[in-house]
Amino acid sequence: MNTYFQCDFKQLADKYGTPLYIYDLDSISRQFYKIKDSLKGFKSLICYALKANSNLSIIKHIGNLGSGADCVSINEIKRALLGGIPPYKIIFSGVGKSDLEIQEAIGLDVLFINVESEMELFRIEKIARDIYNKPSRISIRVNPDVDAKTHPYISTGLHENKFGLDIESAKKLYIYAKKSPFLNPVGIHYHIGSQILDSRPLLESSQKILELAKSIKALDIDLRFFDIGGGFGIQYSDCDNEFDIGSYIGEIVRKVDSLDLTLICEPGRFIMGNSGVLLTSVIGEKITQKKRFVIVDCAMNDLLRPSLYDAHHDISLVHGVMSEKSSICDVVGPICESGDYLAKDITLPHCNSGDLLLIQSSGAYGYSMSSNYNSRMRAAEIALYNGVDYVIKDREDFDLSVKNELSHLDSIPYPPK
Ligand SMILES: *Cc1c(COP(=O)(O)O)cnc(C)c1O
Repeated sequence: MNTYFQCDFKQLADKYGTPLYIYDLDSISRQFYKIKDSLKGFKSLICYALKANSNLSIIKHIGNLGSGADCVSINEIKRALLGGIPPYKIIFSGVGKSDLEIQEAIGLDVLFINVESEMELFRIEKIARDIYNKPSRISIRVNPDVDAKTHPYISTGLHENKFGLDIESAKKLYIYAKKSPFLNPVGIHYHIGSQILDSRPLLESSQKILELAKSIKALDIDLRFFDIGGGFGIQYSDCDNEFDIGSYIGEIVRKVDSLDLTLICEPGRFIMGNSGVLLTSVIGEKITQKKRFVIVDCAMNDLLRPSLYDAHHDISLVHGVMSEKSSICDVVGPICESGDYLAKDITLPHCNSGDLLLIQSSGAYGYSMSSNYNSRMRAAEIALYNGVDYVIKDREDFDLSVKNELSHLDSIPYPPK
């Protein structure tokens, strides 16, 4: 999806080098307010899903708009706190929390922990009793067994997925939690997948979970939060239809309100996806008998989504000599894997070494999924605000990246030669 970024890409490339992640704070605000506006007049809390992009300045910006945080590790919780988000707006989710993470999260007094299994509930109860001797606030993630109709890697709402508890098991756990002096069941939660563009599976899920919430309240369990998760899709290309967040939330929020529950949602991609782009330089073209490859200086370690999900990102030439003729090509990185590509079979004009390509819709699950594979340093990240560019993360430094290994280089006692 061609997002409109008001900046001089050549100037930014000269100033910061490439590959370069660029975020637009105004776009982030606009996306946040689309959700916020649809919740006007109702008790609600938006908890930004940090895993989409966990740069501290991004967290701080979204937190300043009033957002809380949905975190899936203790370190994400620490990032949320560093970004200025208060503990009472932080939710701890995830299918495999360690004892230590649970203990720290309770100690930090987060809003609640989203429970994903029976064994996890028992572990939370034990930690709350042994270490804190007071009840811990929990919510149970219910798996509504609804097909989100998105990529299988990002579908989470079917019984065959590892996430959440089926409705009957969840109900039993609520009853158990109500009786326990160390558990305080305050919420109910579902999240059926990511990049969902059709609201029907979401509405079907919400209906099932609303019924469950009603029957739980009828058991005199004092539920307070109805957490509809995230997963709201964005347009990666003009072919994708636009997810109408207003009508989706509008459909649910009244029903949630009539049960006297606070609606929580956990958007990640919706806020960040089209608020970021990845700028990359062309290294050169390689033409074989079968194919045309445009080799660029970013790779699957910078943006994994095409390699991992076969995800589509629009790519356009933003600096270079625009030749008349365009042809089909693959845009590939320098990494030693055939799976290392940014786009396949797209149309681009002829590219010269040093031209700049813009990889669109890279603000979510871009930098946050990046790695050091092939000993490549992670890119720099900058933010645009009121027409000015600000560094929010330096490009990684090689010397720092080997520091934790260099200190051990002489620790293995090899026999003398
Ligand atoms: C990943 C995730 C989210 C955010 O998903 P998006 O598709 O980025 O909105 C929200 N909640 C939970 C539990 C998640 O795992």
